[in-house]
Formats: sequence, structure tokens, C-alpha cells
Amino acid sequence: MTFVTMPKSGTLALNEESRRLAGRGRTVYRFGFGESPFPPPRHVQKALRKSTFRKDYTTVAGLPELRARIADFHSEADGYAINAEQVLVAPGSKPLLLNCMQAFEHAEVYLPAPAYVSYANMAKLARHPLIRIQTSYTDRWRITPEALEAAIARHSQPGREKVLALNYPGNPDGLTYSRAELQALAATLRRHDVWALSDEIYALLHHQGRHVSLASIYPERTLVSTGLSKWCGAGGWRLGALILPASAPAELRDALIGLGSEVYSCAPTPVQVAALAAYQLDKRTHRFLRAQRQILSGIGGAVHRALLAAGVKAHAAEGGFYLLCDFSGYADSLRKRDIQGDTALCARLLAETGVALLPGSKFGLPAEALTARLAYVDFDGAAALSSQRAKEGILPHAEKMLTGIAALDSWLN
Ligand code: PLP
Repeated sequence: MTFVTMPKSGTLALNEESRRLAGRGRTVYRFGFGESPFPPPRHVQKALRKSTFRKDYTTVAGLPELRARIADFHSEADGYAINAEQVLVAPGSKPLLLNCMQAFEHAEVYLPAPAYVSYANMAKLARHPLIRIQTSYTDRWRITPEALEAAIARHSQPGREKVLALNYPGNPDGLTYSRAELQALAATLRRHDVWALSDEIYALLHHQGRHVSLASIYPERTLVSTGLSKWCGAGGWRLGALILPASAPAELRDALIGLGSEVYSCAPTPVQVAALAAYQLDKRTHRFLRAQRQILSGIGGAVHRALLAAGVKAHAAEGGFYLLCDFSGYADSLRKRDIQGDTALCARLLAETGVALLPGSKFGLPAEALTARLAYVDFDGAAALSSQRAKEGILPHAEKMLTGIAALDSWLN
């Protein structure tokens, strides 16, 4: 008998190991799992409570009024026109991303390294060849038009659609693309008719509130994925959305609906109703977003400075809640301690200090590059929001994480 080889998603596996250690009384600095620390706004929680009686299935694409609400919300937030017909709702953005890949009968998937862990396995499930585009610390982990061009020239085959999965602000790097960088990339995408799968799930958590959607620059072939998991602190509620190009072929939409109908039927109806309350770009939402951004950039900045002081290289985060740590400066001293490769590094670090990081190789980086992702979300988001509202300092909320970085520092040095 043979079965699909599909290891459990790296982030989930690490979270379970961290929980196991914590269950045995160990202090674990949970930098491994990228879950929003913030609770969904009260009025959104209330809307969910009030809609539990909604036991009906919706259409596969989602409630028409929610799709219209999401279209209006993102038209305003991202500055380009979107209509409800372009929006599909699903239980999380992951099934939508997978279905996007599966919707193409013959495709080749281009993926930056580093990139979000799940894309490579999604491409594998969809049986598409995967082409990695390596980036570097010096290039701020960004892919350049030249690198994309070279990858296409080397690997593209006739009869296959080209799909690029791009995610910014990024998991695992916390970095984004500027408008100029996106324009330059779009020129290459356009030249080769590449479909861009633009995972903008962290867009609203751009620390300065200045996210630029690729769809506003390359509308003809950009599929934007987004949802409530990050900006609304509702990962477990499972609500994702996909924004298709206005000019998307009907066959693409039909394929996505068909795949959704066989796999998930619809997003949970009570959650869709609650999402109607979330997707309003009113004063409340602006206030909630502003508070999260201030907290994340304040705490992210403090953690980043502590890492630099410990001699770990990392670029300051621009959005979301991740930092990509580069331990290559410690390669010799780690080798002397019999630590080679990022998996060994993270395993020893967790066992000996309780600091949980996720190896960069999970994101497609070479193991010997000695990188690891740090998610700076091990704090009480509700308490941080109260402090922010009361105009108190938010840095006390970073204390546990700073203790973790101090443990990392003494382990390294
Ligand atoms: N895309 C990226 C880049 C993520 O980091 C995550 C969650 O960690 C997801 C997608 C999954 O989102 P959802 O909860 O909408 O399935």
C-alpha cells in the first residue's frame, strides 16, 4: 500500500511539542506558532453568539451580502474597484489557496524561498511542479523581477500555466513589497502571463497601514487571498476570502466553486453572519486596526532590538508578527557544539532553553543557512489592547518574550 507523503504542517507540529513541554512544567517561549494574540472585537463576537441558530448551508461562494460587504471593504482599503461577484468565501483561506492551485489542470508553481510553509505541499497535492526562487538576507528576502525572469526562462514549459505564490507582509519574514517593487514585478508577470496568487492575509496588519495590493497594479491575473484569521484575531473561526480578477474566465470561477462544493460546501454560516459585522471599515474597525498595529510594531521593534543585541541578524518587521532570524554568524560555534543545520539548531534550542522557533528550511531555505522564524505573539493580546486604550506602555507585555531572547542570548554567547 502506498499513501501520500504529507507531514503535518510544521507550525502545528511545533505547537504540539511546545504544549507537551509546557504540560510538563517547562517554561516555553512560544515563538513558534503564528496565531493572532488579539481577540475579535466584542461586537463581532456578539454577532457570532447571536447567529448560532443559523444552521443552514449557504451557497458555496458564501452569503451574497457578505461577499458584497467584503468587496466594499477591500475596495476602500485597497483603493481599487471590486464587485461581489469577484469574491468567494470559504472556511479559511487555506482551502481557497489549495483550490486555486487545483483549479489549473496543468501548471507550474513558482515559489519564493522563504515562503509560507503550506504552498509547497499545496502544489504537491495539486500535482504541479514546484520551482523555487531563492532570495537572500541581503535582498531582504524579496524576489526580484530578474530572479523571476531567470526562473521562468529556465523552467517554463509550453502547455503549463505559470502560477506565482506571493505573500506579503510575509510569513516568515514580516517584510513587505513597496509599490515600486510590485510594479517592477508586475511588468515581468504581465510579460509572461503569470497568475499571481497574492496571499494578503496580513495586509491590514501592515504596521504603518500602508499595504499595497498587487491586484491594484496587476488586476488581470491576480487572485488575492485574505480572511479574518489575522487582522480580526479569528483563526479558529475559519473564514477566508478570495478576490478574483474582474476579468477572470468563468471556467476558473466554476472550477473553484466545483472544488469547494466537493470539499467544504460552505464556510460556517454563523461565522459568515459574524463576518458581516467584522467587514465594516468604520471608526471601530479603524481603531481596532490602529491599536493592533501600534502594539505589533512596538513589541516587534523591542524583540528585534533584543535579537540584534544578541548578535542575531534579522530585518525589522514591516507588518504581521514575524521576524526571520539569521544565525549564520554563529555557524562555527554551533558546529563546535555539534549543531549543524537549522532543524538541529531549533531542536537543541527548544530542549535546552524552552525557546521555540521554526526552522527556515520549513519555508524552503537551505538548512545550512541557519535561519529560523520567530513569531512575536507570546503575549496577552486583550491586556495589550487595554493598555493601549488606557495610553499605558505596551512594552511590559513583551517581558516574557524578552526573557526568552535573553535565554537565547546566553545560550548562543
Ligand atoms: N497564509 C499565510 C501566509 C499564513 O501565515 C496563514 C496562517 O498562518 C494562512 C494563510 C492561513 O490562513 P487561514 O486561517 O485563513 O486558512
